[in-house]
Amino acid sequence: MPRLYCPCGDFIHNLSNIPDDGFLTVRDRDYEELLETENNRSILSELQPYSETKEWKELIISDERIINLTERIYECPECNRLMWMKKNGMVNIYEQTNTIKY
Ligand SMILES: [Zn+2]
Repeated sequence: MPRLYCPCGDFIHNLSNIPDDGFLTVRDRDYEELLETENNRSILSELQPYSETKEWKELIISDERIINLTERIYECPECNRLMWMKKNGMVNIYEQTNTIKY
């Protein structure tokens, strides 16, 4: 069961649930491509293609593209730290220093 431990020690993010409690991020310039890929993936998925067919391979490529276009952020409900899971496999951790109302 994949887990992400917050440095505060008071919370463990459970990454097993699909969808989970994290946030998906996408660069604004990649957003249209993500929408198109998600739409195409949905169409392919409805076809329920058999393994190794052209549609099945396109479905796998769509999944890989979606993974490459998105990253994930998890917020600790105890300390509000953000743990940003980057595409390069690293996790950047941001600690809350202030709260402002905008
Ligand atoms: Zn925490």
